[in-house]
Amino acid sequence: MITNYELNIVRPECNHNFTSVFCYVYFNNNIKDALPYLNANLGGFKYILDPPSVTFKVHGKLITVHQSQISINALKDKEEAEKVASWMVREINEAWENRKEIVPSTKSSETVSIPQILALLPKTNCKKCSDQTCMVFAVKLRDGIKGPENCPELPAEKQDRLKKLLSTVQYDI
Ligand code: SF4
Repeated sequence: MITNYELNIVRPECNHNFTSVFCYVYFNNNIKDALPYLNANLGGFKYILDPPSVTFKVHGKLITVHQSQISINALKDKEEAEKVASWMVREINEAWENRKEIVPSTKSSETVSIPQILALLPKTNCKKCSDQTCMVFAVKLRDGIKGPENCPELPAEKQDRLKKLLSTVQYDI
């Protein structure tokens, strides 16, 4: 389905404290028909029908697969961008190749509620995560923009509990 793709790696200029990079993966062919199979295989947390896209939360990153591009956030560097992009392209191709054995799905999986996440955060609004409040941080956790490791005030045991709560699917990249 995807034979060639190009990466465009972007570092946000709006916040100099923000160390992660974004990556856009472009390809020439339209993969719209593969999205329901990919969603069935990987359990996307948000499926949009028009224009079609499916979003996955993977190791604290948000990966959105559109019909002719993929966007990935919260990447450490170029090396990680290449690794995650190549994994997702492989998953798309495999889902398409194996489509006869897959029941396609356009369903979004359940999302965790903000109060569930907030219950595990310190709620001191100390701003060490670069967010103004723990509530803002909780929303970013739910949406996969940040991970539990971005709160330096969180003890290891609560980090683990949050990781379990946030990732219902384990991805092996
Ligand atoms: S660093 Fe942790 S405790 Fe401090 S505001 Fe951010 S989420 Fe809340």
